[in-house]
Amino acid sequence: MFDNLSRSIEKAQRLIGKTGTLTSENMKEPLKEVRRALLEADVSLPVVRRFIKKIEERALGTKVLEGVTPDVQFIKVVSNELIDLMGGGVGAKDLEPGFPQIILMAGLQGVGKTTAAGKLALYLKKSKKSCLLVATDVYRPAAIDQLVKLGTAIDVPVFELGTQVDPVEIAKRGIEEAKRLGVDAVIVDTAGRLQVDEDMMGELRSIKSAVRPSDTLLVVDAMTGQEAANLVKAFNDAVDITGAILTKMDGDSRGGAALSVREVSGKPIKFVGVGEKMEALEPFYPERMASRILGMGDVLTLYEKAEQAIKDEDAKKMMDRLLEEKFDFNDFLNQWKSMNNMGGLQMLKMMPGFNKVSEKALYEAEKQFESYATIINAMDEEERTNPEVIIKSLARRRRVAQDSGKTEAEVSKLMTAYTQLKAQVGGMSKLLKLQRAGGNQE
Ligand code: GDP
Ligand code: MG
Repeated sequence: MFDNLSRSIEKAQRLIGKTGTLTSENMKEPLKEVRRALLEADVSLPVVRRFIKKIEERALGTKVLEGVTPDVQFIKVVSNELIDLMGGGVGAKDLEPGFPQIILMAGLQGVGKTTAAGKLALYLKKSKKSCLLVATDVYRPAAIDQLVKLGTAIDVPVFELGTQVDPVEIAKRGIEEAKRLGVDAVIVDTAGRLQVDEDMMGELRSIKSAVRPSDTLLVVDAMTGQEAANLVKAFNDAVDITGAILTKMDGDSRGGAALSVREVSGKPIKFVGVGEKMEALEPFYPERMASRILGMGDVLTLYEKAEQAIKDEDAKKMMDRLLEEKFDFNDFLNQWKSMNNMGGLQMLKMMPGFNKVSEKALYEAEKQFESYATIINAMDEEERTNPEVIIKSLARRRRVAQDSGKTEAEVSKLMTAYTQLKAQVGGMSKLLKLQRAGGNQE
């Protein structure tokens, strides 16, 4: 155990002493890198431009973590910003409520609307909701068959009126049928076109005003590439989408379209399609997507390691004090301050008698220490550095109780806590010295 710790400490020592902030100068190179990464991930160019500009302003003046280069710090800022942008304020946002819930699928041809409609039906079914699928793609007979087949496979009824009835009429009658059946949700599949055109948008608008959906989901193929921004804007302007489903994420696309969708429309990605099977639908995780888009997982790992090293460094400072076997009220207070970070927590957990302490207990201990701090602050310098002075004097303890606004009993409690902790520290020091003298004990 100690062996590990001292190795981490050595590492921390090598890393310290390099602090600074992000400046336009040291951001120049990583900015280029990020720009390239985003374009490679197929984030639309105007989105990249706006994002980079915002990042530059945000990052300027950010403190660089000890032990990392400005480049690494910058990537960390970018990653946080990406996660924020794609998930900000949305959380695990799911479908909108409704009675029945009405979900309208929108998107170009071949992006995966019909497949996603089936996947959603299965998803709803799994959450114990009954469902009806409605087929309004009358332009290709195969489209209706496809939905009927999917419905049969997942055992969800499909409403269709063949190819000779107007799509808006089918949608309307589909909703009536859903109400008659008393189902919880209706999913209206629609026809796409190869490109954004007024025909498709007009039809979508009409269907939308006929069925008044709780959700209008834009289905976007992750491979869409640079066109994603225009596409999302066109659909959002025409039918005011409530969110998107990003399909074909099982392919090698880096998923830049996710960022474009969010940045352009402000609407969340609600689901991700990861295969052709009906089960291949996942919730959207902003962290995963951010890391996939940036493709700089290694850099971020480096950052986390440096963060850990700093925590280890705090632990080292505490260990040095332990080795000196000096432990006055100032150390007592420092100990408490260190408890606010993980290094301190871990150190405390390593101490004899503390190793089984739960997080909740530690939190309570922290509050207790806060009260101790108030008392210690009321002491004079002599009392603080030479605890025996106050431990032995009732008059001094009374004065400190009065000055700190605490009771004498609370002051006595601090004396006891101090004495106990000091004894534990003594034991710890002996252990450490033994370990240093005789090599590894474990
Ligand atoms: P639509 O024209 O928008 O209705 O698209 P379809 O639902 O018919 O899907 C077009 C093709 O993409 C079909 O071959 C689907 O199996 C396939 N597809 C849909 N979603 C996914 C996905 O998430 N991953 C993969 N690999 N293929 C998908
Ligand atoms: Mg279809």
